[in-house]
Amino acid sequence: MGRPRRRVANQLILAPMTERTHLELRPGILADCTGAVYLESSRALLVADAHLGYAWAQRRRGELGPLTDGGIFARIDAAMARWKPEQLVFLGDVVHLGRPASEEREAIEQALTSAANQARVTVVLGNHDRQFVSDFGHLPVETMLQWSDDNVLAVHGDREWPDTSLWLLMGHLHPSIRVQDAAGVRQRLPVFVIGSRAVVLPAFSPFAAGFDLAKPLSPEWRLLFGGEYVELAAATGTQVRKLPRLVSLRFQRTQAGGGSRSTAR
Ligand SMILES: [Zn+2]
Repeated sequence: MGRPRRRVANQLILAPMTERTHLELRPGILADCTGAVYLESSRALLVADAHLGYAWAQRRRGELGPLTDGGIFARIDAAMARWKPEQLVFLGDVVHLGRPASEEREAIEQALTSAANQARVTVVLGNHDRQFVSDFGHLPVETMLQWSDDNVLAVHGDREWPDTSLWLLMGHLHPSIRVQDAAGVRQRLPVFVIGSRAVVLPAFSPFAAGFDLAKPLSPEWRLLFGGEYVELAAATGTQVRKLPRLVSLRFQRTQAGGGSRSTAR
């Protein structure tokens, strides 16, 4: 009955990668190995789902994980150093939880302030950012609900997005695939999902395990890609590479209660 008709890159074996810190998605639109996108014409670096403060926020919720930034601040710095952008755009879910505790607030403020010293910082508000303006509105950071330049429209993806003839860049969905290395160790890799009208960025946060694309996908995915074959590009943090095959995505059956936006346009 519910057997998958097709598996997406399940247990894909990765060949050794050649050094590659970025990949051209379209002329002037570059996927960075950290999971960010760099737009040459507007000199903007886009980072989706950073979830800054994650470990502290989880601690406040009663989880006893280690208090670490997971290297995310260093990754933002690395991407900034590579591209030297004029603007840094957080594509939603810049923070993990509102009303941060003091150490959490300090770490987030430091990261945003340091970024704002190097570039204009914009936050596209996502579903985790409902308190962002009251928590961090005093910082030199602009907030908005969508961002665009001449080539792309960038949205977080938690609310309906406008019809557009521009290429749509979106976060929120945290795409990933399971891979197996030569030693047989399985891990999850964040991926870019690249279609003809839209690209979904991987979560920039090292803590977002990601949604496995081999599983049936929620209705947003159908709106973005319909039945088309998509390309995937894995971002390891130090390298980014397109996977050799096009894949077709598999969707949840809407009548089976999959997803909150089952009344698709
Ligand atoms: Zn989100």
